[in-house]
Amino acid sequence: KAGENPQIKPELTEEHLRATKGMVITRFPPEPNGYLHIGHAKAINVNFGYAKIHGGKCNLRYDDTNPEAEEQEYVDSILDTVRWLGFEPDNVLYSSDYFQQLYDLAVDLTRRGLAYVCHCTGEQIHEQRGGENKGERFSCEHRDRPIAESLEEFQKMKEGRYAANEAVLRMKMDMQDGNPQMWDLIAYRILYASHHRTGTEWCIYPTYDFTHCLCDSFENITHSLCTREFTQSRQSYYWLCDALEVYKPVQWEYGRLSVTNTLLSKRKLLKLREAGFIKALDDPRLYTIPALRRRGVPPQAINAFVRELGVSTSSPIISVERLENHIRDCLNEISPRVMAALDPVRVVLTNLPEDHLEMVELPYKPRDESFGSHKVPFTRVLYIDSSDFREVDSPDYYRLAPNKSVGLQGLAHPITCTDIRRNADGSVAEIVCRYENEGKQPKPKTFIQWIADCPKLGSPLRLDEVRIYNPLFKHANPYDESVAPGGWLSDVDPDSLQVYKNAVVEVGLWDLIAKFAATEAGKKDVAKGCFENIRFQFMRMGYFTLDKDTVLTAAAASAATKGDDTKLVANRIVTLKEDPKK
Ligand code: ATP
Ligand code: MG
Ligand code: MG
Repeated sequence: KAGENPQIKPELTEEHLRATKGMVITRFPPEPNGYLHIGHAKAINVNFGYAKIHGGKCNLRYDDTNPEAEEQEYVDSILDTVRWLGFEPDNVLYSSDYFQQLYDLAVDLTRRGLAYVCHCTGEQIHEQRGGENKGERFSCEHRDRPIAESLEEFQKMKEGRYAANEAVLRMKMDMQDGNPQMWDLIAYRILYASHHRTGTEWCIYPTYDFTHCLCDSFENITHSLCTREFTQSRQSYYWLCDALEVYKPVQWEYGRLSVTNTLLSKRKLLKLREAGFIKALDDPRLYTIPALRRRGVPPQAINAFVRELGVSTSSPIISVERLENHIRDCLNEISPRVMAALDPVRVVLTNLPEDHLEMVELPYKPRDESFGSHKVPFTRVLYIDSSDFREVDSPDYYRLAPNKSVGLQGLAHPITCTDIRRNADGSVAEIVCRYENEGKQPKPKTFIQWIADCPKLGSPLRLDEVRIYNPLFKHANPYDESVAPGGWLSDVDPDSLQVYKNAVVEVGLWDLIAKFAATEAGKKDVAKGCFENIRFQFMRMGYFTLDKDTVLTAAAASAATKGDDTKLVANRIVTLKEDPKK
């Protein structure tokens, strides 16, 4: 907004307008020290979205000034994630591209008498800034040293003649200002660490406070959009641009996004891994984007979720169910349906002959012919899911129980349980049923899924693992001491991952896999061992995809048969409905 943030020199505005031709220019500035998370999806939508609606441009700028925490793996993953979400940066840039320019400006700032080399310890600087008790603030003896001396000392810092912690460059701001961001912030510190792009070329690195505004300025960013914890930094951001008489972008803050039953902070995620609760930072129970992606969440659902939240200055904790509803809406449209049993139990229809074989046609998606249909065998022996059978019946139970009937998806006649055959240990070996294809038929309230035992037609297809993900934390806010008195780590739900190792699916899943593997995109995915783009519904159970732990060759996929080394691992993306217990 013109007037709100006047440039100290009108020429700067003119020069800026010549460079941008009046276009909006934003940037998304992640630090490559971890995977992006759902909160970053908001930042991406805000920055790319704002530029887009104004016909402008958005840069991806890696804020890579902490060599100790940053890695190439994260640099690669971040660009991949931005693209996966459907955005293409107009430029891919790095703060480290500007190390020389930033250094020159630091020298300039010192020459202007607005920066000084300080040899105080971190503890001393803390005391000068009022200390623990927020007491009186004072400046140190280095603040008023001659400019020439600071220039010389800064040169020595750059040449590696000091050990880390022996010297920093501080900005000469205003120790008496009410805003802590004005208390002589550090501009440069010494770090003997190899940088993922500049190697050991530098042993001094600029801080966020020094770097961010100047990189925005170099790139002619018109709107520096950031989260609210930077509100106080706005003053130091403007101070530095003005001090150096460079073009000054406008900073606008918006609310940070948090989601219930999870944590997003990179440091906390590393703790979770150290503590052994997760193996990798793309564990599908997490809300990093690589985790959501691995879980099978479509990018459109993530974008729809963050867009629905809109941009405001509040930072509420958003219920994860809102995200799940978007995922369901999206998956409902795109997912074919097949029948599966996670914990299968055998059912024998004793009134059918041993060799009974009937082909039943099922639509891949009811009321949507564009998905086509498939045929599944119906035989004397079937599998159903154990959750659809109870030995002890009750009047409000509408599935299979002794002397009770239930419908079978796609079949005209229901089945009635007449007996139970048991294993030596008393567990249910087989449910004995009658196929009610004669006489007066009971009217079932429920139709359950079933899978024929018909090896010659490849049925059932056995899945090596089905992984069901529940919230990683027991409470909406794991930081809340009143619900998690042992701290957030004690709030982890050890049963948040359930694994089924005997699940069976109808052969129709193979047709879907083969069809997917035959498409251009599918061929590439299969070659990479990536199956996140094949998503399906297990009827009555939820939406699923194949995890990247799946081992499946292109040959096996197109032949629709499991090879010796094939391993099928399915992830549940989301349930079909919200959990009524919550
Ligand atoms: P974290 O430590 O949680 O990963 P960060 O702020 O250190 O977050 P950066 O890589 O510096 O992560 O963030 C890049 C951009 O994304 C910044 O502009 C930041 O404000 C924004 N951002 C980070 N987390 C969120 C969030 N939860 N909601 C909205 N924007 C966010
Ligand atoms: Mg950061
Ligand atoms: Mg951080």
